[in-house]
Amino acid sequence: MTDKELFDIAKEAVALSRAPYSGFNVGAALLCKNGKVYKGANIENAAYSATVCAERTAVFRAVLDGETEFVSIAVAAKNQNGEYVSAPPCGTCRQVLSEFCKSDFKVIFGTDDNLNCITLNDILPYSFSLL
Ligand SMILES: [Zn+2]
Repeated sequence: MTDKELFDIAKEAVALSRAPYSGFNVGAALLCKNGKVYKGANIENAAYSATVCAERTAVFRAVLDGETEFVSIAVAAKNQNGEYVSAPPCGTCRQVLSEFCKSDFKVIFGTDDNLNCITLNDILPYSFSLL
């Protein structure tokens, strides 16, 4: 699967987003080593700290299904005007990804015209780990 194909699945996942407060809809597509893809979307809450990001919903869905080996994740986001914008994973999601993914895990984000593909180590060097 190409980076663009995974990004297109993340764009589909934007429709799953529940973001009534920010209007910032995010979708994620997590590619497992076995080829399965898990979609995630942000789910907001009136108590803002209870909100969860698209990347984490995708990872948690996969982990609950027994998946633990991942290749890459793509993140797509639409702003309040319905325009696709670049949205790299937040710090909390980077830490969650580091729990399950190796440093060469690929992180894909951006827009159709400017798609970024970098490694987890690029966006989270010196990650915290107890293992
Ligand atoms: Zn996040």
